[in-house]
Amino acid sequence: MHDTSRPSDLSLAQAKIILETQLASRAANPVELALDEAEGSVLTEALVAPIGLPPFDNSAMDGYALASDSLRGKGPYELPLDGRTLAGQDPAPLKAGHARRITTGAAMPEGADAVIIQEKVTLDGEAISFDERIAADTFVRHAGEDLAEGEVLLQRSTRLGPLQLALAANVGVARLKVRPRPRVAVISTGDELIEPGSRRGHGEIYDSNRYLLASLAEQLGGDVVLATTCGDDREALIRALDTATSVADLVVTSGGVSVGDADLLPELIAQQGDIHFHKLALKPGRPVLFGTVNETPILALPGNPVSVMVTCLQLVAPALDHLAGAPARKPLRISAQLDGRVTKSHARLEFQRGQLIQSSSGKFWVSPVSGQGSHRIAALRDADCFLVLPEGPQSYADGDSILVEPLIQYLR
Ligand code: AMP
Ligand code: MG
Repeated sequence: MHDTSRPSDLSLAQAKIILETQLASRAANPVELALDEAEGSVLTEALVAPIGLPPFDNSAMDGYALASDSLRGKGPYELPLDGRTLAGQDPAPLKAGHARRITTGAAMPEGADAVIIQEKVTLDGEAISFDERIAADTFVRHAGEDLAEGEVLLQRSTRLGPLQLALAANVGVARLKVRPRPRVAVISTGDELIEPGSRRGHGEIYDSNRYLLASLAEQLGGDVVLATTCGDDREALIRALDTATSVADLVVTSGGVSVGDADLLPELIAQQGDIHFHKLALKPGRPVLFGTVNETPILALPGNPVSVMVTCLQLVAPALDHLAGAPARKPLRISAQLDGRVTKSHARLEFQRGQLIQSSSGKFWVSPVSGQGSHRIAALRDADCFLVLPEGPQSYADGDSILVEPLIQYLR
């Protein structure tokens, strides 16, 4: 294979800077959303805790609340019972020298400063007895020990996931000021594409990129509002782009962006809008294009499914971050030892597909999956990471240390 990179091809790092420059200022306007609508959106202001957590002193266990200084001398101790406090109740003060039956999460009554767990107690009619001395604060969860009232609970620009929504709920906040998830339109392009479920003629293939991209875009923080397929036809492509750009904040296409006879998108986008970059020093995914059509950004990815996966994770992910007003996520890359040998046929940055194995001592090993062709979607199934092979070196020996990007970080 010959090296198809050109000295003029931008690096992935340069491409990401262009993305940021173009997109950071286009983040959607803030809206206020209820918690159950806010998943995946991004805070436009810090969330300050209106109450502390826990909001009041409460029992960590099912047992008996008591005043530790009411235990005098050596045990065993006996305390008469003073009723019961369940979680949710507002307790009356504890009678001096008594114990109160209490459940986990119930407010500590005034006058009590410790809880003895029920397992250590003998209940004898209206009194309890036990041997062990109980120190103040035993099994008491103190108001504000987890979070103080007035503390910043979530910083501005935080993306709201399960924990963040739970935190807002836990301090009683029902609505949040956020930028909503950017709306994404997905268009698969190619005359050969047909719908799964339909009858296939020779030369035709089922459109998989539409499903790959729609699902990835959702997982990466987008709100997919349109997913469609379009043939390699100029007029049809213009119509599809008009529709997509009218409903979405970002259009993501696949196919038709290289130099083949049916690759119409580069010329069409240049005529209908602007191209910010086209072709990167990257494998797979070299022909990827970033432009603007009808004032809407478009990432036009190549058609091969593995190229789609790579360019989507490397470029659509940060694009969605910028449009959401969130800091661009930094891919997590870990060092692993190569199990096998790897060669590149070029000097470009390459993302090969691999399997990560952790030894019993915790060390990471990585082996490339067999079938590195960018059309090999079935081989992609066996991969759980990318081997990140930087610009320059072209061969790696068994045991070499290389950087690996686990795919799980991108998937929710
Ligand atoms: P292209 O980038 O249009 O030259 O397409 C490159 C390769 O990807 C060709 O083999 C296409 O048939 C294939 N391809 C393009 N679009 C899709 C799609 N939506 N689903 C599956 N394969 C595709
Ligand atoms: Mg094509």
